Amino acid sequence: KLQVKDLHLAYGTKKVLKGITMDIPENKIVALIGPSGCGKSTLLRAMNRMHDLSPEAHITGEILLDGENIYAPGRDAVDVRRKIGMVFQKPNPFPKSIFDNIAYGLKIAGKHDKQQLQEVVERTLKSSYLWEEVKDDLDKSALSLSGGQQQRMCIARAVAVEPEVLLMDEPCSALDPISTAKIENLMLELKKDYTIVIVTHNMQQAQRVADLTAFMYFGEVMEYAPTEELFGNPQVELTRNYLDGNF
Ligand code: ATP
Ligand code: MG
Repeated sequence: KLQVKDLHLAYGTKKVLKGITMDIPENKIVALIGPSGCGKSTLLRAMNRMHDLSPEAHITGEILLDGENIYAPGRDAVDVRRKIGMVFQKPNPFPKSIFDNIAYGLKIAGKHDKQQLQEVVERTLKSSYLWEEVKDDLDKSALSLSGGQQQRMCIARAVAVEPEVLLMDEPCSALDPISTAKIENLMLELKKDYTIVIVTHNMQQAQRVADLTAFMYFGEVMEYAPTEELFGNPQVELTRNYLDGNF
């Protein structure tokens, strides 16, 4: 499981995360909701050390994966990102074949056995419900896929290296309703094997997929509760106002 402990993040002097503490249990989907600019993407990026290359980002606090701080001195960021995968709002296929997209992370990890790669590509594309659509086109460019197919391929690519956690930043906001439904079903299927954190502006989506939902506001988690409780009976006035569409 993933535990965030008193996480602060500032870009220069601008404080963006102000002491986030939350437990993300295994095999659950957690939704992060809240107004634009409240720090959802920043929190997600902190969870897989994407700020390592931003010298202006200052982070304190801890994020523990299975009890070990991903920011511990000497901890390898590449290893963290292998265990905690990320899917972005805009599908970002590499300009390579579908096969090479999925096999990419495995090749980096030193796995080059053709037969083995073939197996992983088939298995992950099946688990992403994309196999039937692309099985004859594995050597075609991933850029030739539709947006929804690209996003399912990006999920397959993230899953191929067998991470423990999948982070998804508005994975459906660039997609049509049918692709969105496919990806929601895929998330529900994947949570049997993974812990998933999803950022979404779509309140129906949070209610359809998330076990737990956190409402963020100006860099703080104001309320974090089982999704039905948070939407059905919010305890914090700010959450209520947000859900009522008052800001
Ligand atoms: P949205 O719903 O619009 O995606 P968000 O909740 O994901 O919003 P973040 O992208 O996490 O918000 O941004 C939080 C705050 O951090 C914003 O005020 C943003 O301007 C600021 N911010 C984000 N990235 C940087 C950066 N690299 N340098 C400086 N400030 C940044
Ligand atoms: Mg964002």
